[in-house]
Amino acid sequence: MSGSSVVKPHMGDTQQLLEAAEQSVLFTAARPAVIMEKGEGMYLWDTEGRSYLDFIGGWAVNALGHSPRVIQEALAEQSAQLVNASPGFFNKPMVEFAKQLTELSVFDRVFFGSSGAEANESAIKLARKYGALHRGGAYEIITTLGGFHGRTLAMMSATGKPYWEPLFAPKVPGFRHVPFNDLDAMREAISKQTCAIMIEPVQGEGGVHPADPAYVTGLRELCDEHGILLIFDEIQTGLGRTGKLFAYEHYGIEPDVMTLGKGIGGGFPLSAMLTKERYNLFEPGEQGGTYTGQPLAMAVGKAVVGAIVEQQLAVQAADVGAYIQVELSKIAEGYGLTGIRGMGLLIAFNLPQPRGSELCAASMANGLIINSSSPSVIRLIPPLIVSRSDVDEMLARLRRSLNDVLDA
Ligand SMILES: *Cc1c(COP(=O)(O)O)cnc(C)c1O
Repeated sequence: MSGSSVVKPHMGDTQQLLEAAEQSVLFTAARPAVIMEKGEGMYLWDTEGRSYLDFIGGWAVNALGHSPRVIQEALAEQSAQLVNASPGFFNKPMVEFAKQLTELSVFDRVFFGSSGAEANESAIKLARKYGALHRGGAYEIITTLGGFHGRTLAMMSATGKPYWEPLFAPKVPGFRHVPFNDLDAMREAISKQTCAIMIEPVQGEGGVHPADPAYVTGLRELCDEHGILLIFDEIQTGLGRTGKLFAYEHYGIEPDVMTLGKGIGGGFPLSAMLTKERYNLFEPGEQGGTYTGQPLAMAVGKAVVGAIVEQQLAVQAADVGAYIQVELSKIAEGYGLTGIRGMGLLIAFNLPQPRGSELCAASMANGLIINSSSPSVIRLIPPLIVSRSDVDEMLARLRRSLNDVLDA
């Protein structure tokens, strides 16, 4: 599939839409001057009928590619049956999906939300509840520099991003940041006030940095020793992305809490927090949300996760991810690319010059969507359905873009 089913362009629409966007959409990000209209498999189309090979997949979200039949059918069937009951009731897809997730993981209980940040907020609330009940009121959560946990006020406080530090004061208190992959720093930061450690097993937004195996094992030991919770934010790494269904499986340990988002809904807003039976601690009223267990989201999530498992997309992610790294190495020297790294289909490399945003713009012009997580870092997080021939096409477009942007 290479951009064959081009949608008919609506000539004249695009300019009007872009003007309306300038006037009506609250500015939060510099977006390219295109309006996306259609998606299918690995491709997106804009209103001018231009196609883009998508190696970002909605930021590690569209696990099954764009507009997969699995999601279309789940939405059609569930919306004909029940769109919404109330968060005060169980519903059928909610129960089935929770059961499915507990069977696929080491966890016993699931809370559903709509966004990753919301799942992380749940994890923080659960850890503080645990601290209140069992650790003499301990409330502090230790996170790592270069991590990313979301954009709510508390999650901006949890995230160890230096440039966020002065924003939106006052910050939510109760978070401490230590360097990533530094076990001694973590050990020293633990105090009587600590109730949990939260990490991403592979820092995603921070530039794709996997946790060292000894670090993760050490964190597990520290948490056991101090009776505090180990929280894995697997919002980016979960559901096959790293070559295993969940990234904790690479490390031979079990976290106490895991959060999922992004790929779990394949593009539908959905997130989850999973934990063990002994942390089933909330009293009525302490945690909830209008859309927790929303039937459409549940039906989609169940279908998406079912497809990821059935089609063994974690295995495919490991295979195609390794292929991407090998093929990138072949062109690395010629372009001065360094630091090719990643796990499965969460991959990054460094540019010889800090021209990430120019490269992303040049790639768009060449029909390729990639992401620059910082000026010198390019990140690839394609849908899990990506094939080797998609990779070959990506590399051809990437090389063209590198030629356009980098100084000879
Ligand atoms: C994207 C992301 C989040 C935030 O998810 P939202 O759905 O944007 O709230 C949190 N943690 C990690 C690791 C992420 O990659």
